[in-house]
Amino acid sequence: MNKGVPKGLIVTDVVIVGAGPAGCSAALALKGSDKKVLLIDKAVFPRNKTCGDSVPAHALLGLENLVPGIYDDFLLKVKSASFRSSALIFPNALRLFFKWPLPGYVVERSAFDGFLLDNVRESTDTQVITGLRVVDYQRSEQQIILTTQLPDGLPGDEIRTSLVIAADGAPSLAARKLAGTIPDPKVYGQAVRCYFDNVDAIDPGVELVFYHPDFFPGYFWIFPMPGNRVNVGFGMPENSRRKMKTSIVELFHKFRNQHPVVREMLKNAVQVSDLRGGMVPFARKRQIWSGPGFMLTGDSASLVDPVSGDGIMQAVRSGMLAGIAAKTGQHNLYDQQIEKYLWKRMRPQRRTIRLMNGLPQLITIAAWLGRFDWLRNRFQRWIW
Ligand SMILES: Cc1cc2nc3c(=O)[nH]c(=O)nc-3n(C[C@H](O)[C@H](O)[C@H](O)COP(=O)(O)OP(=O)(O)OC[C@H]3O[C@@H](n4cnc5c(N)ncnc54)[C@H](O)[C@@H]3O)c2cc1C
Repeated sequence: MNKGVPKGLIVTDVVIVGAGPAGCSAALALKGSDKKVLLIDKAVFPRNKTCGDSVPAHALLGLENLVPGIYDDFLLKVKSASFRSSALIFPNALRLFFKWPLPGYVVERSAFDGFLLDNVRESTDTQVITGLRVVDYQRSEQQIILTTQLPDGLPGDEIRTSLVIAADGAPSLAARKLAGTIPDPKVYGQAVRCYFDNVDAIDPGVELVFYHPDFFPGYFWIFPMPGNRVNVGFGMPENSRRKMKTSIVELFHKFRNQHPVVREMLKNAVQVSDLRGGMVPFARKRQIWSGPGFMLTGDSASLVDPVSGDGIMQAVRSGMLAGIAAKTGQHNLYDQQIEKYLWKRMRPQRRTIRLMNGLPQLITIAAWLGRFDWLRNRFQRWIW
């Protein structure tokens, strides 16, 4: 085939780019619509996604309205470890526990995202194409034209649509091309993770988060998975990492050796995967979320909780909101919905992270104050 000449042409009403939690949720929300919907992803599924693998029950409960029974189905079909509390652990071994009203699940993203995509395939009329990468977006009168590429680098079909739901994660080509968003190191973070077996002193029902004043506001985590495995990682806001003049990988290793509890727990553990990293686009600065012919969802809309680093629930919610807006033809209301259901609700997290960045000693004060149950519970209720 001639390089540069598209294979063919697909014309459709809605294109969802990215079949992660945001894209699949958008497709599920479009179920039953009279629109022709296409969902594409550059990866072939099941695909891995670098993540802490911690999925809150809220993410699945939100989808219950679209696919009744999906929560039970997940519990039945997908191998996961559930947790009901998280512990913050300081270098002096002080542990502060947070109990959650609903469980969370630690589940490999290949399994979780694969489960969502199976639901799209089974319960909607969406056309799904995997192994197709969007490499450019262009406007032409009322349409957006997507240039695509096949895994071997040859041109894929050209796609013409009146509406793009961008769910292509971070960094997002759609956000850059359609909304003109440039990633700002003040508002995104970096994180790395890998898997370990044989970790000492692990309690299967508790997610562990470790703080150390030398690495603040970054944090280290150990999340128990099914079997004897854990997901281990470290994340930090990008501007703090730049100040430390060290790579995120180096910080992971330093933290691991410097925090006495982590060091002890991982002493006999066996690393069973590579350390892999990714960008974490925090909901710290208002971004453009939609415009003529497009809506951004999930990580492409920078909706990650700036304190916890969790983005799956926000990806599901924003995907659903975009899908509903596309179905009802009210995509002009999408920004208001995001503002109401996601952005405003993360105001306490934005305040907390601003304070944490400006006052690194805060972690020592917080550790001391956190010993008081009522204060800790009040903080938890305020922030989450
Ligand atoms: C190390 C790390 C740990 C994390 N831990 C957690 C955690 O424990 N809990 C939590 O809630 N969140 C966590 N997050 C954040 C979470 O991973 C994201 O917020 C979430 O995956 C966002 O979902 P999404 O659907 O927006 O994007 P993604 O899950 O990234 O999906 C995007 C999809 O788009 C596809 N795509 C990308 N570009 C193109 C293109 N050009 N053409 C076609 N397809 C494309 C990709 O292949 C991918 O399938 C973590 C992030 C990192 C980096």
